[in-house]
Amino acid sequence: MIDLLVAGGGPAGLATAIHAALAGLDTVVLEPRPAPIDKACGEGLMPGAVRALAALDVPVVGHPIRGIRYLDDRHRAEGRFRHEAGMGVRRTVLHAALSRRAAELGVPVLAGKVTSVHQDRDSITAAGLTARYLAAADGLHSPLRRQLGLERPDPRPARYGLRRHFAVAPWTDCVEVHWSALGEAYVTPLGPDRIGVAVLTGERLPFDALLPAFPALLHRLTAHSGSAVRGAGPMRRRVRARVAGRVLLVGDAAGYIDALTGEGISLALTGAAHLVRCVRAGRPLDYERAWRRATRDHRLLTGALVRARVNPLLGPRIVPLATRAPALFTALVNRLT
Ligand SMILES: Cc1cc2nc3c(=O)[nH]c(=O)nc-3n(C[C@H](O)[C@H](O)[C@H](O)COP(=O)(O)OP(=O)(O)OC[C@H]3O[C@@H](n4cnc5c(N)ncnc54)[C@H](O)[C@@H]3O)c2cc1C
Repeated sequence: MIDLLVAGGGPAGLATAIHAALAGLDTVVLEPRPAPIDKACGEGLMPGAVRALAALDVPVVGHPIRGIRYLDDRHRAEGRFRHEAGMGVRRTVLHAALSRRAAELGVPVLAGKVTSVHQDRDSITAAGLTARYLAAADGLHSPLRRQLGLERPDPRPARYGLRRHFAVAPWTDCVEVHWSALGEAYVTPLGPDRIGVAVLTGERLPFDALLPAFPALLHRLTAHSGSAVRGAGPMRRRVRARVAGRVLLVGDAAGYIDALTGEGISLALTGAAHLVRCVRAGRPLDYERAWRRATRDHRLLTGALVRARVNPLLGPRIVPLATRAPALFTALVNRLT
């Protein structure tokens, strides 16, 4: 019998499969989309993600990121990473690197979708395969999470993300977050002549209609035509529990707050490590506690930042406050990496 069946071959699913293979577990990934997979993403790997990939022997090539810069029309705050750098990496490059490592370890990645799961005391069966456990790494909209009744309703207004690439040389080694009344546009350096711009907003408007809300950024980009736009959302996903019998949720499927602090991939990689440790020990229920502990800072700080951001009184004060309190801003940036 397969030890761990993984539904979804994004960063969370592939990292889970790599951890499982390294732990000596027999693992299989099911992924419906052909490789290399692209996705709406700011593509900034925080230092923790770079570290976690190195620990899995997954080499990634990109542009170093040395901190986070917040800007509005009058203020500018910068928090530098105190230790290692992060990295701007195209999703397709990251996916190819994770896929290569999984293949090296002999992990089969099968073309297919998990639409339903049946479980008994000792095993799960999904997509015609039987395994001891199933890792649901099927992303933000996770069909498995829905099927298992693990979604919690969220009455708050939704936020969406749109990403586009521009053939522009990066002008900074920071991820720049431009703030406006419409939302945030964050710019990630990806290579010598490429940047990614991800706009996060509550408005359902096309990318080109959102960009004028960020005049300083628009000025740098007007001469350049961008790539196709990719979108995602609603971003926030509330989840009742990470474990349902022999099914364990990982990555965005396990719950998501917002892309504002760019930690989704770090959290997916950390979750993958904890999931495999708990499955290997035969203690799946421990995963809930481990996941909560590992994501605590993110849930508290990113959650508070997004709540302040959408508050009409507090939102416009965030960048001025970060400018006036640089030590606090740097401490928070480093706390979330
Ligand atoms: C606009 C935006 C900007 C972001 N910017 C950043 C950033 O700068 N840095 C960062 O770290 N994070 C960022 N994130 C978050 C990051 O993209 C996610 O956290 C990350 O992709 C999560 O990986 P995952 O494997 O859980 O999900 P995904 O990458 O979505 O992968 C899920 C996989 O599951 C597959 N799948 C779906 N349904 C099924 C099924 N039924 N059966 C089998 N497989 C299935 C899908 O095809 C997909 O390949 C951003 C997100 C958004 C929306």
